[in-house]
Amino acid sequence: MVGVDEAQFFDDELVEIAARLSLRGVRVICAGLDLDYLGRPFEPMPRLMASADYVTKVLAVCVKCGGPATRSQRLVHSKDRVLIGDENVYEPRCRHCFAPDEATVEVA
Ligand SMILES: [Zn+2]
Repeated sequence: MVGVDEAQFFDDELVEIAARLSLRGVRVICAGLDLDYLGRPFEPMPRLMASADYVTKVLAVCVKCGGPATRSQRLVHSKDRVLIGDENVYEPRCRHCFAPDEATVEVA
């Protein structure tokens, strides 16, 4: 078995490698965010999910309303697509409470 975490940080080559390993009988499990901080598909996850035999979406709990959270609300200003951070930088939100233009702190 091969496990890949944070698969959204890989490029499309991950999709090809996962497919080749699967054909050789290796069980490949990839985990990652399917949407970026603006709610856009986070490559290579869309292709990875389309080519997978099984897809499980795991939801968090929205910090605003307690509903099922499918989005990552960025809490700081940055236009970088990849900004590594913990609970001070992101919080889970449902699609109704998600506000991609809302951020509170400027990052240098
Ligand atoms: Zn909510």
